[in-house]
Amino acid sequence: MSRDIKNKFWNEELETLPREELEKRQLEDLKEIVKFAYDNAPYYKRSFDEAGVKPEDIKTLKDIEKFPFINKKTQRDTQGVGSFLGELAAVPEEDVVFISTSSGSTGVPTMSPFTKKDFDEFQDTESRWFWQIGMRPNDRYVHALNFSLYVGGPDVIGAQNLGALCIWGGTLPSERLLFILKTYQPTVIWTSPSYAWQLGEKALKAGYDPKKDFNIKKIIVAGELGGSIDATRKAIEEIWGAEVFDFYGLSDIFGACAAQCEYHDGLHIAENHILVETVDIHTGEVLEPGQTGELVFTTLRKHARPLIRFKTGDIGRIDTTKCKCGRTHGRISILGRKDDMFIVSAVNVFPSDIEAVIREQSDLTGEYLIRIFEKDFTSKYAVEVEKASGVAKDDDTVAAEVSAALKARIGVKPAKVIVHPDGGLDTRSEHKSRRVIDERNIDYSI
Ligand SMILES: [Zn+2]
Repeated sequence: MSRDIKNKFWNEELETLPREELEKRQLEDLKEIVKFAYDNAPYYKRSFDEAGVKPEDIKTLKDIEKFPFINKKTQRDTQGVGSFLGELAAVPEEDVVFISTSSGSTGVPTMSPFTKKDFDEFQDTESRWFWQIGMRPNDRYVHALNFSLYVGGPDVIGAQNLGALCIWGGTLPSERLLFILKTYQPTVIWTSPSYAWQLGEKALKAGYDPKKDFNIKKIIVAGELGGSIDATRKAIEEIWGAEVFDFYGLSDIFGACAAQCEYHDGLHIAENHILVETVDIHTGEVLEPGQTGELVFTTLRKHARPLIRFKTGDIGRIDTTKCKCGRTHGRISILGRKDDMFIVSAVNVFPSDIEAVIREQSDLTGEYLIRIFEKDFTSKYAVEVEKASGVAKDDDTVAAEVSAALKARIGVKPAKVIVHPDGGLDTRSEHKSRRVIDERNIDYSI
């Protein structure tokens, strides 16, 4: 590969396109994909006709607002209908080379098909993110993500195409992973934030010093919000002596659709592939860039199953101003899943806000559990934390301080803070932790 390793861009021309030029390309692709979807995917033909819109109505990017939304339910309801790939697919099965499926954590798993070209462009995008965080052909990379059906599995090919030496780790037991880190001395690893944290703790307990015994320089995290919470990122960086980069992926699109750069100020999203809208959580009204709402994505170049105005269920915002790094593609910030948000005294609370506060408290281990419950017809939350060993303060003092810090940050204090000793919480599971328990007994009947 003749790429100059000193160039900070994987594809300089694309990554630094003037906004106007970028939007011009988006418009060309949008017109093409909307027409392709209408002509080839039975669902879009039907839904556009019902909404009274035609592909020719797309004259500017804003015209997308005339088109109907789709969501997870649309995918579930249409998959397997009419053909194996279902009514959202726009190509015959013989053109498909790969499918990933969602975890199914919120219902039936949904399947995402790729043509050969979709897949190659997916991997080129992943190479771009790896290059963006500074990975180069002389790096050794451990891909410690699930390979089974998960869309993040094949991202390792993006690292390989870049020229890095790749170790297809998968979801190994931590002892085995620590052995690899010690023996092969890899420089970059990708895992979940909670696992990066716990693996560090396990390494320390096993007698390793992650900073000296390993050679990890960069840690990629995704799949949970921790990587974008400064306090969590710094805590992981401190254990490993490595820089942490947050990536954001969607099983319906790419393993990583967006990634932090060296400034860690939001995640650059591949706007050449994804048209981003932000809409009001309740009304669906389109908001201005910078305003917080539900992120809605239109895939501009995926032909196997185009997604036109897909409501992601993620709450966030996009900053379309040029980044200090020189890249012009917008930066998204994710606050949380719409389903995880809860309302206390008319305030929207995200578990990530609570995590940020807890990880900043030096008297705590950083482990936590949030319980959401209902009392007197209103939602309340309680927080369980662990006091770090060696802290002399009594539990009541620690609880009062946590409560005050939460009140200051979020605006509403928890109904209760329960303080456990170090190791007292059962939240240290491998790879993906469950830290929010919703105990509200909500009656959906009308
Ligand atoms: Zn940047």
